[in-house]
Formats: sequence, C-alpha cells, structure tokens
Amino acid sequence: MNIHEYQAKTVLKSFGVSVPRGIAAFTVDEAVKAAETLGGPVWVVKAQIHAGGRGKGGGVKVVRSIEEVRKEATRMLGMTLITHQTGPHGRVVHRLYVEEGSAIERELYLSALVDRETSRIAFIASTEGGMDIEQVAKTTPEKILTFQVEPAAGYQPYVGRNIATALKLKGDQVKQCGKLIEGLYNAFSAKDMSLLEINPLVVTKDGQVICLDAKINFDDNALFRHKDVAELRDPDEEDPTEREAAKYDLSYVKLDGSIGCMVNGAGLAMATMDIIKLFGEEPANFLDVGGGASKEKVTAAFKIIVSDPNVKGILVNIFGGIMKCDIIAEGIVAAARELSLKVPLVVRLEGTNVDQGKEILAKSGLPIVSGTDLSDAAQKIVKAVRAK
Ligand code: GDP
Ligand code: MN
Repeated sequence: MNIHEYQAKTVLKSFGVSVPRGIAAFTVDEAVKAAETLGGPVWVVKAQIHAGGRGKGGGVKVVRSIEEVRKEATRMLGMTLITHQTGPHGRVVHRLYVEEGSAIERELYLSALVDRETSRIAFIASTEGGMDIEQVAKTTPEKILTFQVEPAAGYQPYVGRNIATALKLKGDQVKQCGKLIEGLYNAFSAKDMSLLEINPLVVTKDGQVICLDAKINFDDNALFRHKDVAELRDPDEEDPTEREAAKYDLSYVKLDGSIGCMVNGAGLAMATMDIIKLFGEEPANFLDVGGGASKEKVTAAFKIIVSDPNVKGILVNIFGGIMKCDIIAEGIVAAARELSLKVPLVVRLEGTNVDQGKEILAKSGLPIVSGTDLSDAAQKIVKAVRAK
C-alpha cells in the first residue's frame, strides 16, 4: 500500500526524522490558510498523488507570496498531473501539501528496502539526488552505494557514519545524518515498510540535513497490525477494478493486454501470463481467485475481467485440488450465462473431478472451448482473439 508524501512525512516525523514544516490542504482556501499559518517568506505548493516526477510535470512549485500560493493551488487542484510514473492518463490532484520553502545547497538520494538477496534491510545512498535514480543507475552505477543493516545487531551508529561519508557530509551533518538514518530504520521496521525513498534528501544552505520528499510503500501482508497505516489509504489513488476485486478477496492486477486470465494460485497465474506471451499475445490482467473459489467469486472475477474494454478473450486455467473441477465448471457456466459473455472463452481444467467438469462445460450449450493442457489452451485463446 502507498501513501501520500504529506502522510509519509508525518510518519517519519513521529520517529524523529527531520522534515520541513507543512500543512495538507484539500481546497484553495485551506492552502492559503496553511501558507499564512506557516508564515513564509517562501513556500512550496506540492500536488499529492501516488507518483513521483511531480516536479517536472508542474506539480511542485516554489512560491514567494500568498497570492502565488493561491494561484498555484487553484491551478493544481483538479488538474490531471501526468508524470513518467503515472502513465499517459495521469492522476487527478485532489490534495495539496503546502510546505515552508527550503534553501537547497545539495540534493542527495537515500532509500531503504528489504534486500531479498541478503534478507536484510538495506539503505541505498547516492550523491546524485533530485533526479531520476534509474537514470543514475544506468549511466553512473558506481555512484549508487548499498549499506546493509545486520538484523541481530539492529541499527548501529557506524551505518549512519558510513552513509554520511558516502554522501560526502561534513562535521555536524554527519551527526544529523546518523540520527536521520536511525529514525528511518526504526520507522521502516516498526511500520513494516517495503520501500522508503527520500529523493531528494537535502543539505540546506544553513547546514541542515532534511527529507524534502518522502515515498513509502507498506507491506500489505502486515497491514492487519497497523490500523493507523491502513487508515491512510486513499481510494482516489486506487484502480476501481482492483478495489472491487479486493472486496471479493481476489488478487487482481490490471495489465495492458487483450487476454483476460482467471487462474487459481499466484504461481499458476504467472505461468499463464508467461505462456500467453510465449504464443504472441499479452495478458489483460493477473487474477488469482485463490484456493476456495465459490460460484460467487468466479462470477465476480468474470465481471471484473469483462469490465476491461481491452479484453478480447478469456483464458480460465484452474487446477482443482481442494477445489473440485465440477464445482468450478458449474461456476464458469453460471457466470458466463449471467453475463451473456460476448468474448471467446477457453477453459483448461485439471485435477479432481476433471472429467465431470469438462462434461458440464460441454453440455452447457455455451461456446466454451476446452483446452487439453496449458499450452493447448493458450494457443486456442490466442487464435480466437486473432480471428476476431
Ligand atoms: P517529485 O518531483 O515528485 O519527486 O517531487 P519532489 O518533492 O522531489 O520535488 C521535486 C524538486 O522540487 C526537488 O528535487 C527540488 O529540486 C524542488 N523542491 C522541492 N521542494 C523545494 C524547496 O523547498 N525549495 C527549493 N528550492 N526547491 C524545492
Ligand atoms: Mn522526489
């Protein structure tokens, strides 16, 4: 789960991390009032969307008068902000963050993540902050350094000092950096984050080390123990079909292809997407109906798949283990009838009661094509969408 920059900064501040003073605003008047409360003389008006690259897209403005705050707030609220992270459709801005302006001396990069190779929380630091870190990784990878935190020992001051050295910080800034890293580490582990990115971390003209931007991803599987974090969810930022899927406990991720997939099990769903690509088409989604797919769940899954106008065909790939194939087949037939499905449907069933399952599909009178195995099913659906 993602949260907004202003929410991330509030979380970090509660762990003693230095962030600029700021106030969130949902209307132009609130933005003006926020600026008056902060006092100026320089403010930054920042569009709050769950995507980076706002600066280049006109979503971050440094201003020097209340009138300018009003002007920028008016311009940003309701605008569709397009950045390299939003995709071509962009995101509508519903919230702003008004901050005191900082006089920047240097822009640095800092992030923390779970390093899957070492199973440790690792910090990534670079002197090349403020810009696209992927670009830095491509052109000057030697400027990106990784620092592991030994989990048995927890955070140790030498980690902060090593990072400060890598960032070429001097004197008191080394101490500030240590305190900041410790706070970030504590926040990361206490709140079960999966990614924490500060880009840029800045050194101000008066020597302060502060987080000018903050992006946090939380581990969804740990949200049950962080009610405070779960409350920060912003439905405006979520894909409506993904939200609908979550209601039925379906793992659904929308993609850009033309073949809708309904599969039980995440691994099988990945394999299904791979094999669609292998035969030359693209999957329209990832969808895992889970182990105990009921008729209601199957129907909900079909509805979500066909609500995507790009879907030209559907491939169902179910391995009946605990779930029996005949029950699944009944669910598929009922859902296809209820929705009067207009796109080709290929079903591959395997496992418990597979023969009864296939018979139910064959006798349904619906134009459902059976696949003998995964490869056969994938080729049949690719052929069907191409024939359209
Ligand atoms: P992003 O573009 O979505 O990553 O948004 P950021 O919060 O990182 O802001 C983008 C850029 O705006 C930063 O890299 C800074 O160069 C600039 N910026 C943001 N806040 C301030 C500020 O307080 N003062 C100044 N001078 N520049 C700022
Ligand atoms: Mn940024």
